[in-house]
Amino acid sequence: MSSKLKMNYIAGEWAVGSEINRNINPSDTGDVIGEYARASEVQALQAIDAAYDARIIWQRRTAEERSDAMDRIGTEILARREELGHLLSREEGKTLLEGIGEATRAGRVFKFFAGEALRLGGEKLASIRAGVDVDVVREPEGVIGIITPWNFPIAIPAWKIAPALAYSNTVVFKPADLVPGSAWALAEIIVRAGELPPGVFNLVMGAGSKVGNTMVSSPKVRAITFTGSAGTGRQIGMKCMERGAKVQLEMGGKNPLVILDDAQLDQAVSVAINGSFFSTGQRCTGSSRVIVHESIHDRFVAAMVERMATLQTDHALKNETDIGPVASQDQLDQDLFYIASARDEGGRIVAGGELLARETPGFYLSPALITETHNAMRVNREEVFGPVASVIRVKNYDEALEVANDTEFGLSAGICTTSLKYATDFKHNSTAGMVMVNVPTAGVDYHAPFGGRRGSSYGSREQGTYAREFYTAVKTTYTQA
Ligand code: NAD
Repeated sequence: MSSKLKMNYIAGEWAVGSEINRNINPSDTGDVIGEYARASEVQALQAIDAAYDARIIWQRRTAEERSDAMDRIGTEILARREELGHLLSREEGKTLLEGIGEATRAGRVFKFFAGEALRLGGEKLASIRAGVDVDVVREPEGVIGIITPWNFPIAIPAWKIAPALAYSNTVVFKPADLVPGSAWALAEIIVRAGELPPGVFNLVMGAGSKVGNTMVSSPKVRAITFTGSAGTGRQIGMKCMERGAKVQLEMGGKNPLVILDDAQLDQAVSVAINGSFFSTGQRCTGSSRVIVHESIHDRFVAAMVERMATLQTDHALKNETDIGPVASQDQLDQDLFYIASARDEGGRIVAGGELLARETPGFYLSPALITETHNAMRVNREEVFGPVASVIRVKNYDEALEVANDTEFGLSAGICTTSLKYATDFKHNSTAGMVMVNVPTAGVDYHAPFGGRRGSSYGSREQGTYAREFYTAVKTTYTQA
């Protein structure tokens, strides 16, 4: 075992695990970023016990103490955002600029919840009975189990951990096995800068089927917040439901971007390129279906192909890189599978979709644009989760709206138009949880509610003041003096 092994954090102690996970750089598969301890199921149970026992200690701390802890954590993340962003890009494959941006967001989230810790309030209602006081208060839920995906390895953990702690809960956190580095660095800052009592925050790295499943099944974990794929999310949701645990699921997307014939072409191309291909298309809010009015279709596709030719796909840490590698071999196989399936069903690959060789061995795929697709094709029904966008030609706005809404998902949806009438109609009639007009479907503010509808999300919203819905329990009290 290496002396530099990054360990789990359980009951206030760093702890070796039952296995070692070697974290590989997707831009250079010969570069081992570090070794991370995978926790056993027994250790996951120890972490849960520690979080359970620490609840009362943390709840007795004042709001100001919790606020100060969140503030110190946010300050350190922001001060170290370049270093954290570098680590993130090295292990996940998004560009350095994107990595630093994500680390910055994580810091800002802690700062936001430093304020929220002080703002948590209740309500006083008039009673229908004389002399009776009715008070509505919010209390912590208890132990929160946090399970996160690989594509935002510091921002998603931050936007779950910060509200959990700010609202007086204790935490057991399991990051994705593919990217333990950013999560470990975040955890180290949380326990040190946060000066948290033992047990308040626990990190258990490892496989979802073992560590994650132990958290989902434990009666001591009062609530599970999960972000990841729809299949895993549904399984977790059912298990939580069976034992009456609170659950919040953020899952996949098949997000439409509508381009109308009155759109500003340059702007529409920028919005589509960003939404479909930035962060290597590995965003739940990415624009994977680009729905284009027939009278602008050919001009739009030509302009996209021209712009795509200027994009550099290369090592995530090179300054000139626009698109980093895909995160893993499995993910690359999935992307290639969907490109082939689109071709088999009659789609035309007009740009990209090819494996690229670079100075270092990595999972390089040129962003793919597929035309002549229709909404029933597999590539337009299932989440690809890579730098792959398909174009669907439509006759008019009504058809565009119908196609946009024809999906089992409902996370984000966008439209590019200069028409107030169509922009307004789309905002009213899109069935997605987040609607964007002339801005990419991906990329949201950290203080605004985040989440989708139907197959994309289950439970209450994340982020901003809306987060209190999940991380607190409502109590109504009636008092006769
Ligand atoms: P995944 O479902 O494979 O894994 C997500 C997490 O769940 C990981 O930590 C994993 O170890 C854990 N897990 C797996 N099986 C488990 C089990 N049986 N019990 C408990 N935990 C288990 O997802 P992924 O591949 O890491 O992430 C990509 C997916 O995440 C995409 O579908 C993407 O759309 C989605 N995502 C959604 C959002 C959103 O907010 N809607 C944001 C980012 C990513």
